[in-house]
Amino acid sequence: MDVLGKGGRLLGTTGVQRRVRLLRQAWQPSVVDDRTHVLDAVAVLERGGLVAFPTETVYGLGADASDAEAVTRIFAVKGRPADHPLIVHVAGTEDLGRYTEVVPASALRLTETLWPGPLTVVVRRADHVPPVVAGGRPTLALRSPAHPVAEALLEAFGRGIAAPSANRFGRVSPTTAADVRADLGDDVDLVLDGGPCRVGVESTIVDCTGDLVVVLRPGGVPVEVLEGVLGAPVGRQAGPGAPAAPGTLPSHYAPRATVVVVLTVDEALDRAAAGGGRAGVLLPGAAEVPEGVTLLVADEDPDGYARVLYARLRQADQLGLDLLVAVPPAAHGIGVAVADRLQRAANATP
Ligand code: AMP
Ligand code: MG
Repeated sequence: MDVLGKGGRLLGTTGVQRRVRLLRQAWQPSVVDDRTHVLDAVAVLERGGLVAFPTETVYGLGADASDAEAVTRIFAVKGRPADHPLIVHVAGTEDLGRYTEVVPASALRLTETLWPGPLTVVVRRADHVPPVVAGGRPTLALRSPAHPVAEALLEAFGRGIAAPSANRFGRVSPTTAADVRADLGDDVDLVLDGGPCRVGVESTIVDCTGDLVVVLRPGGVPVEVLEGVLGAPVGRQAGPGAPAAPGTLPSHYAPRATVVVVLTVDEALDRAAAGGGRAGVLLPGAAEVPEGVTLLVADEDPDGYARVLYARLRQADQLGLDLLVAVPPAAHGIGVAVADRLQRAANATP
């Protein structure tokens, strides 16, 4: 089946393959990574400790997924509600059968094409997985990250690693090792440094437990790519306005500054100029700003915007901004996920 691609073009099978190939290239980091400390990290995980590690999306705060006590520490350190399920990171598609009794055909198809990569599949949880990992749910979220350090860690550890983003609950996700230390301090036993994250926003989460694959959270893999790989439409339960998917809160990913989302640059400049206090704008490209308004620039291209999004939100805090008026990138590809995160940051405003 053909599906709509970027800009409304039809994506045939070769179009899908090409798109997947380009995405895969874009996920790979270009910097030197911290493979040397992988064995130290394994030792920490084995004694029930917490290891922060790089992935292509954001840094994760990991614990041995089979160790309920270690997983409980993740919730304590993050200040995360116990019913907010974690994603278990695995080495690859061959691990699906270790975590669920019957592997759904859709999950197999998607993961064979898109793993390792920023895609999380929700399946029924096998009985040996501690319920605490899944926030008590009968389902489990699984992902295989595309980052050489994460891959080396998973291979050396040999078991699943439960990991949410390595930040305090509700705050901006970390995209560098320094962000993790700044947020979690000594509460994390070891931080592996794999350079800045290439994708910059979290994984796309899809529920594969029903006949129709449903997107629970937009992320690094665009919906049109999922549809291309499946050869079928997917359902959407996305957007902060939609009924909350399990564990997906309407308000999240928030800096201290008040965030307002508008659709045009002119509107952003007007709102920021009228804002009072220290105001800034976050724009997809440069612009001339009124005096007293701080300009934060993200890329015009949605992939580039996603890569710097969380760094810019952190910057807003470092600059002491009271108000940040943001214009999201074009709403295709990963731009949908960026708009979703900005809206959740805006919803966190008191
Ligand atoms: P994060 O908060 O970025 O670590 O992502 C974890 C997210 O995965 C949660 O907020 C949920 O939205 C989602 N998730 C994890 N496990 C499940 C599950 N069993 N069912 C549905 N969603 C899940
Ligand atoms: Mg998170």
